[in-house]
Amino acid sequence: MRILLVSMPFGALDRPALGLSLLKSALIRDGHDCRIAYAFEPLVEMIGPETYQWLGDEVPYTAFPGDWCFTLPLYGRDPDRDWAYVTRILRDEWQMTAADIRRIVAVREATPAYLDRLETLYAWDSYDVIGFTSTFVQNLASLAMARRLKARHPRPRLVFGGANWEGDMGKALFETFPFVDHVCQGEADESFPALIGALAAGRPAPRIPGVLSRGADPVRAQPVQAMDRLPMPDFSDYFAMRDRTVPELPATLLMETSRGCWWGAKHHCTFCGLNGEGMGFRVKSPDRALAEFAHVGAYPGEMLSVVDNILDMGYFGSVLPELARRPLLQPIFYETKANLSRDQVRGLREAGILTIQPGIENLSDRVLKLMRKGTTALRNIQLLKWAREYGVGVEWNILYGFPGEVDADYEETLALIPKIAHLQAPSGIGPVRIDRFAPYYETPEAFGITGLRPLPVFDHLYPFEADIRARIACYFDAEHGASLASPKLVARLGQAVDTWRAQRGATLRVSDDGRTLTVTDTRRGRALRHRLGGADRLIYLACDKAQSASGVARILARADRGEITEARIIARLEDLIAADLVIRSGNTYLSLGVFDRFPTDWDTAPETRSVEEAVHATEIHRDPVDARHGRDAGQRQFQPVRAQDAP
Ligand code: SF4
Repeated sequence: MRILLVSMPFGALDRPALGLSLLKSALIRDGHDCRIAYAFEPLVEMIGPETYQWLGDEVPYTAFPGDWCFTLPLYGRDPDRDWAYVTRILRDEWQMTAADIRRIVAVREATPAYLDRLETLYAWDSYDVIGFTSTFVQNLASLAMARRLKARHPRPRLVFGGANWEGDMGKALFETFPFVDHVCQGEADESFPALIGALAAGRPAPRIPGVLSRGADPVRAQPVQAMDRLPMPDFSDYFAMRDRTVPELPATLLMETSRGCWWGAKHHCTFCGLNGEGMGFRVKSPDRALAEFAHVGAYPGEMLSVVDNILDMGYFGSVLPELARRPLLQPIFYETKANLSRDQVRGLREAGILTIQPGIENLSDRVLKLMRKGTTALRNIQLLKWAREYGVGVEWNILYGFPGEVDADYEETLALIPKIAHLQAPSGIGPVRIDRFAPYYETPEAFGITGLRPLPVFDHLYPFEADIRARIACYFDAEHGASLASPKLVARLGQAVDTWRAQRGATLRVSDDGRTLTVTDTRRGRALRHRLGGADRLIYLACDKAQSASGVARILARADRGEITEARIIARLEDLIAADLVIRSGNTYLSLGVFDRFPTDWDTAPETRSVEEAVHATEIHRDPVDARHGRDAGQRQFQPVRAQDAP
């Protein structure tokens, strides 16, 4: 079979499509002829890479401007509907400037000519199957091209997959757009090659788990379990396109070491719409993961971004030390849980994992609990502190709008921000979304949420009956019965974060000569110096990891200072809090200083196993397949969805 896998606008220009790259390898392994078309290439040539990336990456994602551009070739011109989108969504909701709106409209006007050009570039009729991946803002461009192909080149079968076609969304789209022949829902690594095999055998309506075919009853999708059997991704088509079109553009390499989320499998964060029906955690063996790091790292990328939802804690003892011994050329990005130890943060750095996204989300214990995040404000700050110390960048932002939150939660955060001005600021603040598949969507009544309805933008993208649109939409508005933070307070928080982000040169550095800690504080401009000797030094060191006063007392006892009573420890900690060198939440204390070099002989309390580590230990699915079987099965969904700042 000849198969063309297609990535339409606004697929990423600076990185390969991982799902398609895995499917290509799988199909070639099965003896088929397969090629990936980075079909946005002619549009990049027409509008320029800057405009393409601006529209794909910088314009607010949930305005869906890239999708709206393709309503023109898909549905035709409709002045009333087009005016409504521009005024209500771009101008009123997102407050875009006239110049930016004109820029978007110009791209929209170019889309019919782009499709004309694209049609001339491939011998469409020579393919048996054309597969479209649709993730993020790719849906309407893919549908517009598919509709044109079905009308003018009816021979190939048209298959859709990707996050936009998961669950009921995919079923509704399949019912609405009759020119789509099949849909691979969920992880397509096994279902898509099985579909190709069935079509090759002359079965046009096969019943395959996860595949929708016209004239066949659907069978529920099955997430991949044998992770080691997934093929290595083939990025050759991507680099051929990149070198032709934007050779100077730095590329980010993608790979995955696990799927699902070990935390979410037990304690689904209330806002998280990731993973659809594949939350169960599945991980590649260390040997396989290392082989894949070597394979992917051999491509000429500037950085290597692991697309996992959450780093497997077991990798700290296996994959990371090995990466430290065999460093890659590229810095690595990983999403992690926020509850990491100092040793683990150092392990990240040594392994070349220079940026993490730990899902910090908020700095209020109450709000973190409302979202079932499984971390606390102090643990989040502790991670920011250690990340600063070891030079690991942290991508995070503050989300608000969680049912049950109150102004006092954010008043606490406002009081906290000047004390942690020396740590990495969030990239911004934003309201939490209600995403399909998230607990807020699946069980809204449990959170006092009523009146779920698609975001207004979907009216402009899918001009169908409201019930169809509700099935196609992925993001929703609602009424909240429970309290929310007031807009006034949110505005103050936004200003405080802007100030934090603009602040340069704020430090709180700690050096230790073995007897005295010298703390240099420039958070408020002028440098202040504090010296902490004797018991104060020990107390400060003990609170390097968030600690109760009784925990500090136990650590001091092990340092032969058992005579210092808990009452005295609390009194000293209160002094350190008054100097903004320590912060407290309830009866837990955290020192804030970033050490030049943390004393290696410091005896901390043995790490207590956290709830999430225990959950992880029971939930993890270890791939039983050994590496030598690694090339005979397994594929990947077209592209994993990534929601708001997760995990
Ligand atoms: S937000 Fe992150 S940690 Fe929470 S369930 Fe989703 S992927 Fe897991």
